[in-house]
Amino acid sequence: MVRPSQVIFMMFLSQAAASILLVCVLHALHRFYRRGYLREWTWAWWANAVALTGMAVAIVSLGDFPPDHPFRLATSALALTAGYAQLYWVLAGAYDVRREKHLPARARAWSLAACAALGAGLVLVSSSPAVSPGLRLFFRMGLQSLASFLCFGAAGVAVLLGCRSRRGWGRNMVAAAFFGYGLLSLSGFVSNLLFLAGRPVPQALSLASVEAILFLYLTGLGVVVWLLEEERQRAAATTQDLEQLAYYDALTGLPNREMLVERLWMALAQAKERGAHVGLVCLDLDRFKTINDSLGPSFGDVLLYSVAQRLRGATQTQDTVARLSGDQFAVLLSDREAPEDVQAGARSVVASFKAPFAIQGQELFVSCSAGVYTSPGGRSDPEELLKNSEMALEQARERGGGVLEAFAPAMNRRAHARFSVERDLRRALEGGELALHYQPVVGVASGEPVGVEALLRWSHPERGQIMPEEFLHVAEISGLMGAIDLWVLRTACAQAAAWRRDGMNGLRMAVNLSARAFQHPDLAARVQGVLEETGLEGRLLELEITESVAMKNPESSLKVLKELRRLGVGIAIDDFGTGYSSLSYLQGLPVTTLKIDQSFVRQLGQSAKSTAIASAVMLLAHSLDVRVVAEGVETEAQRAALMRQRCELMQGFLVSPAVPPAECQALLRSKPWGGEANAGEPH
Ligand code: C2E
Ligand code: MG
Ligand code: MG
Repeated sequence: MVRPSQVIFMMFLSQAAASILLVCVLHALHRFYRRGYLREWTWAWWANAVALTGMAVAIVSLGDFPPDHPFRLATSALALTAGYAQLYWVLAGAYDVRREKHLPARARAWSLAACAALGAGLVLVSSSPAVSPGLRLFFRMGLQSLASFLCFGAAGVAVLLGCRSRRGWGRNMVAAAFFGYGLLSLSGFVSNLLFLAGRPVPQALSLASVEAILFLYLTGLGVVVWLLEEERQRAAATTQDLEQLAYYDALTGLPNREMLVERLWMALAQAKERGAHVGLVCLDLDRFKTINDSLGPSFGDVLLYSVAQRLRGATQTQDTVARLSGDQFAVLLSDREAPEDVQAGARSVVASFKAPFAIQGQELFVSCSAGVYTSPGGRSDPEELLKNSEMALEQARERGGGVLEAFAPAMNRRAHARFSVERDLRRALEGGELALHYQPVVGVASGEPVGVEALLRWSHPERGQIMPEEFLHVAEISGLMGAIDLWVLRTACAQAAAWRRDGMNGLRMAVNLSARAFQHPDLAARVQGVLEETGLEGRLLELEITESVAMKNPESSLKVLKELRRLGVGIAIDDFGTGYSSLSYLQGLPVTTLKIDQSFVRQLGQSAKSTAIASAVMLLAHSLDVRVVAEGVETEAQRAALMRQRCELMQGFLVSPAVPPAECQALLRSKPWGGEANAGEPH
């Protein structure tokens, strides 16, 4: 015959075993997911297993030891302490779920100490012989059942409310299990009260072991489902973030190029269906780089954000404003009835820049360059729209900015030609297709060579030799000019130094400077670097700039020219007479040479007017102690006229065109033009 205490013993032990199973599950999940509540609950069910085992042992030894036997006292105290500790850990886990932070270590230590004190205290108090068995049971189990009811109820609410992640099945299951535990505890408490009052305890309120085990499994299952749901939510959020990154610009929140292309496809399909028109405006801010450099990148960022807002305000709801890159934006004007509506939309986009931008307490006027392309009836693809509107934008930029250009087919052809030159030029620079030819500069009367001018040549593998005028403009707008300038300067200086080592003393090397190179802030340092690198003396180098370049920014020009003069480098004003410089202005610049343009030279002796101008220039030059070189001298008559004007130096086909270095060297040694052959060295 099985005794009731043995049944209870088995029930407690089976619950303890189920608790340990849950401990294993929670611990394994914690190792992987590192959640604070998993750790707390692992401890909670450890404590539960200990409490149940303690209770089982206490019950089975009921008849073997008197109530105040130390063994019974110790097992009861251990079981009670573990029971209260379980409640503490359940609450600590729930706190973690609700607040997403752990309880401080001090609070944990104090709470566990309080549980131990409570367990021991209650056992001691209840073990007194004066305490009735009903009251003893109430102290040892009834009070704990009440506490358990309250704690599990509170933990269930905390789990239901949660914090970060959305509620799902998993959390509901855990909360339901906790509420179930709470109710079981309440039933325990009620049966204790009845027992205390000497009333019969209904069977339904007795130790509901099976239910307890069920709630235990429900807790474990709920936690697993909860974590899986969290995982799925996180994966969905990550996908959304990735999508945002892939299709939207982080700074302005506007769609990026990829998204714009998607919207273009949709707008074009819609336009085709309805016979409507679609337009794309590409625009960029004028002077954005200057603003960014002078007012700082964070100011630039705020400006870009404000521009995005402004553009949004200037468009209709069905339109899309996108940021393509840096300061370049695009506006898709969809579903317009007529091409004129597209143009009007584009004009209002540009007009939105008329009002100043208020940024960080400053008012700033910013203009934009814009290009628009209209696709009639949606008969294009996004690529074509983007390409054509960007081409129109390019044209607007070339016109100096602040304008709206509509695409025209001629732009396409021009851009094609330019693109192929640009592509080939990049290859040329790396592949050694560029070369310098040298044109001698000689004395008009003596024919003695005094220097050479370095002129750039491009040996194109298919197109043959290409002259600089054909490709320098492309180099300038494609940003290749800086690299070309430096290469030319280095090569020319190295050649001059080599000739000097070869015994050609005093030969001056003239190098043309592009506008960009002249405006480079470190020009003087760059030139100094090249001189040191090649070992050429500064006085043997002359840099040629055109009058318009020198006049563009007179103050900074003066500063740069003075720096160059300090290195001993000569300054020549190239193509003199074709620009608008006033002779008096030139007096203020530290110029060493004036190169009279070929167009003047051509007219020398032909018209009284050009002869008078030439003699005035010559007079001025002599009074300023500036050398004068006549460019493009082709005939003997021109040379004679120059001689009459007392022009001392010349260059041109009469002497020699620009030729490769070896040929030029031979020419220089043999006195290239006029007088008797002079095998001596040039001075
Ligand atoms: P520029 O500096 O005024 O060069 C003189 C141009 O006149 C050269 O043309 C030269 O070949 C040409 N020329 C010389 N003598 C005569 C002549 O008797 N009759 C005629 N009809 N023409 C003559 P090129 O080489 O085509 O250079 C054109 C321009 O390109 C140059 O004008 C210069 O401004 C620029 N350039 C050339 N090389 C470079 C360079 O390395 N860097 C930079 N930045 N510009 C360069
Ligand atoms: Mg020149
Ligand atoms: Mg010239």
